[in-house]
Amino acid sequence: MVKRSISIKGARTNNLRSLDAEIPRNRLVVFAGLSGSGKSSLVFDTIAAEAGYQLNDTFPPFARNRLPKWTRPDVEHIDGLSPVVVIDQRRIGGNARSTVGTITDAWTYLRLLYSRLSEPHVGESNHFSFNDPAGMCPTCSGLGEVVASAVDRFLDLDKSLQQGAIRLPGFGNGGYWYSQYADIGAFSPDTPLRDWSQDERDALLYGGEAAARLGRRPPKDYEGVVERFERIYLHTADNVSERKQETIRRFTRSEVCPDCDGDRLNERSRSATVLGHTIGEMSRLEITELAGLIRGVDGPHVAPAAAALVSRLDAMDAIGLGYLTLSRATTTLSGGESQRVKIVKHLGSSLTEMIYVFDEPTVGLHPTDVESVTRLLGRLRDSGNSVLAVEHDPAVMAVADQIVEVGPGAGADGGRLVFQGTFEELRRADTHTGRALSRRRSGGRTPRAAEGAIRITGATRNNLRRVTVDIPAGVMTVLTGVAGSGKSSLAAELVEQHDVTVVDQRPVSTNRRSTPVTYTGIAPVIRKLFARHNGVSAALFSANSEGACPGCDGLGIIYTDLAFMDGQEVVCEACQGRRFTPEVLAYTVDGLSIADVDALSIDQAVHRLPDKGIAGALRHLSEVGLGYLRLGQSLTTLSGGECQRLKIAKELRDTDRPTVYLLDEPTTGLHPRDIDTLLHVLDTLVGQGHTVVVIEHNLDVVRHADWLIDLGPGPGKHGGTILYEGPVAGYTPDNGTPTARALAAGPD
Ligand code: ADP
Ligand code: ADP
Ligand code: ZN
Ligand code: ZN
Repeated sequence: MVKRSISIKGARTNNLRSLDAEIPRNRLVVFAGLSGSGKSSLVFDTIAAEAGYQLNDTFPPFARNRLPKWTRPDVEHIDGLSPVVVIDQRRIGGNARSTVGTITDAWTYLRLLYSRLSEPHVGESNHFSFNDPAGMCPTCSGLGEVVASAVDRFLDLDKSLQQGAIRLPGFGNGGYWYSQYADIGAFSPDTPLRDWSQDERDALLYGGEAAARLGRRPPKDYEGVVERFERIYLHTADNVSERKQETIRRFTRSEVCPDCDGDRLNERSRSATVLGHTIGEMSRLEITELAGLIRGVDGPHVAPAAAALVSRLDAMDAIGLGYLTLSRATTTLSGGESQRVKIVKHLGSSLTEMIYVFDEPTVGLHPTDVESVTRLLGRLRDSGNSVLAVEHDPAVMAVADQIVEVGPGAGADGGRLVFQGTFEELRRADTHTGRALSRRRSGGRTPRAAEGAIRITGATRNNLRRVTVDIPAGVMTVLTGVAGSGKSSLAAELVEQHDVTVVDQRPVSTNRRSTPVTYTGIAPVIRKLFARHNGVSAALFSANSEGACPGCDGLGIIYTDLAFMDGQEVVCEACQGRRFTPEVLAYTVDGLSIADVDALSIDQAVHRLPDKGIAGALRHLSEVGLGYLRLGQSLTTLSGGECQRLKIAKELRDTDRPTVYLLDEPTTGLHPRDIDTLLHVLDTLVGQGHTVVVIEHNLDVVRHADWLIDLGPGPGKHGGTILYEGPVAGYTPDNGTPTARALAAGPD
């Protein structure tokens, strides 16, 4: 029999301090607490990991290899678990073949309809699959895009061949291919290309006809720059090295396939119609509209497929994805959109007694859209599941059956259960979250004065309707609007039209040796400190030297690459994760070994390490609220929000000339108290003369901005216009828009 609760005894994963908890089953439970307090360590790394591990264990070995790998958590005892589904914000696959249609199975049903109903009748449903040779466009192999030379980037017209006018590697003066162009007598090697005729430039790039027109014959086997580039870089089956890939990225761009025009299908499948529409046309309709169209389909052979398709589409609409199209590549979805697409996959499921685990399901959602997510979480619970969500949004806490707060602080100061109860009880609790909920908001602030403006002109990207807008310089502007209204598109346009530094949530490093120490450049300082105090060579304390543990090459862990499975990480037995030989570990500074230093948090290190340079370099990390990270913590373990703050810290330290910073939802993963820290940091940037542009839904951030640009009114083609631009305080409910209403009403 399934237990009434998930009971956990002695959880110690990451920073958890032998935490005990009873989490009720079949309820919606929200996990709150400061960033870094240990919410994810409890929910993902303990509960979900153990549930996943136990589930895998029930499968025979060959099947286990095909399931996701779970590392067994450090916990004394845990029971009351059942199969778990983790719905996080990790982007969906890097695979260009995956679209909103394929990932939600909607495409499978649509294909079925076409195979049964289309005119002319085509036959099997695999004829409508762009992942199947029977259906795919031969030109782009079903990708809808082709890689094409970005010829406009090849040449620097202000230079002569001698001066390196051909920008491609290997084509400059002294390069391997240089003499094939400069020394054949067909071109003048010392005239800037700008002074050549168009025919001459064409002959250089394409050879062939253009050269013939010139009457000046290059050698018979002459190969134009473009042909040669494409032969060496694009039409090659070789393994492409990192450097080649970089060159390809710089000198090519993806273009819509000239053959299928992006529909991915071959001629025959592309032209078949149902209700007068080709499958390509249907895939480019907004989901809301497509649902309306498919409702009109009926007939004995297709009614069940049509009904299944409509229910999928309605589910997407219900969680605020109605503005997407089935053709949309999943690689272009934002983190929040990816998470909601994953939810759709599970909505249709009739399984019960599952544990659903969510990571901030409100990310990317306007306050107006949040309600659709809370409804959905309730629906999953009501069909007999346990729903656990890590979430900071009070609107979600308000509908939860229970809230669990992990804390009291972050990192080593967190890891305990500090509150468990209802929303009402939490509002009265003396915890970080309780205090944040009960605190009274200060009114609007006096906007800072701009110094000129940065203009975005005639933006038409995605759904934007020829938007021209000024962004005031030297102050903080916030971009708002419902999901899909065009905020990211406008931001992308800002990046394209101006020199902008994007501070995003992408990983800062994929190298597991990167830590706050290497990132801030204090590694040599620490090594010298140890050398000075102990009278030995500084090199000993480098993880690349003979001082490093030979068992793990100074990594502290051993990584086993298993041919057909995910790799496995285990702590090195020889050094117990301490990375150095016992001899090196015996040297200390102020009672701390080099491994002890790695284990210090940044805040601790600032006080403990007797060196001003170290404290100075780490100060910015504390300022952005990352003081709880350990010095030796691999940067690959950081969340998206943490990576973003790390990047801000670097900018605080390094940048002195006025810069435009763009941040996309920087409050992701942040507790209200951490948001105060973030706003303080953004103010510091503005104080230094920089311009800050933030895409954000969090009302604290919106109210803090000097200028507001609201996009809308709706998502997709119902949006793309500017509803308001001006000081935040000037946007009142009289404007009648969702953002203005949320600003007036907002719970926080
Ligand atoms: P939250 O979800 O509350 O933001 P986490 O559970 O992610 O917090 O992190 C709690 C603490 O554990 C933080 O100090 C974090 O830096 C640390 N931590 C998280 N993941 C790892 C990991 N894989 N290895 C070591 N430390 C980690
Ligand atoms: P927001 O940032 O306000 O959520 P976006 O700018 O991401 O909105 O999206 C605006 C519209 O453009 C939506 O209809 C969205 O589906 C579409 N869109 C966004 N990115 C792409 C893309 N890479 N390819 C095609 N359509 C896109
Ligand atoms: Zn094609
Ligand atoms: Zn070791």
